[in-house]
Amino acid sequence: LERTFIAIKPDGVQRGLIAEIIARFERKGYKLVAIKLVHPTKDFAEKHYDDLKARPFFNGLTDFLSSGPVVAMVWEGQGVIKYGRKMIGATAPLASEPGTIRGDFAIAVGRNIIHGSDGPETAKDEIALWFKPEELL
Ligand code: ATP
Ligand code: MG
Repeated sequence: LERTFIAIKPDGVQRGLIAEIIARFERKGYKLVAIKLVHPTKDFAEKHYDDLKARPFFNGLTDFLSSGPVVAMVWEGQGVIKYGRKMIGATAPLASEPGTIRGDFAIAVGRNIIHGSDGPETAKDEIALWFKPEELL
C-alpha cells in the first residue's frame, strides 16, 4: 500500500494546528502508520531538504525547520502521496485554494505549516530518513 511522509513544521505546531491537520487526513480515510514529535537539528533539516541545497532560500528554510518541534508522520492509503499534496495545497499559501491546509491557515511561503513528499521515490527516502523500520506499524 502507498505511503507518504508528512511533517507538521514548527509553525504548525506552534500555532496549535496538530489536531486540525491529523483530523483532515483521518477524515479522508488515510491510515496513520507512524508518528512522533521531533526537534530536528540543522544538519538533519539539510538532509531532509537536500535536493534544494542550491536554492537561495536553503539556509533560511533549514534554519526554520530546525527551529522547534515538528510532528513527523507516515500516512498510508490509495493515492496518498499525490492526494496528500492536494490536501496540503500549493507551496505558496496565497496560491493555494481555500479548503487546502495551506490555503486555510497560512500566508507566507516560508511559514507554510506542513510538508508532504512529492513522489514515490522521495516518500521512500524521507520515511527512511525520519523513521526506523520498527517505528512503522
Ligand atoms: P515541502 O517540501 O515543504 O512540502 P513544497 O514541496 O510545496 O514544500 P518545495 O519546492 O519542496 O515546495 O520547497 C520546500 C520549501 O521551501 C517550501 O515548503 C517553502 O517553505 C520553501 N520555499 C520554496 N520556495 C520558496 C521561495 N521561493 N522562497 C522562500 N521559501 C521557499
Ligand atoms: Mg517539497
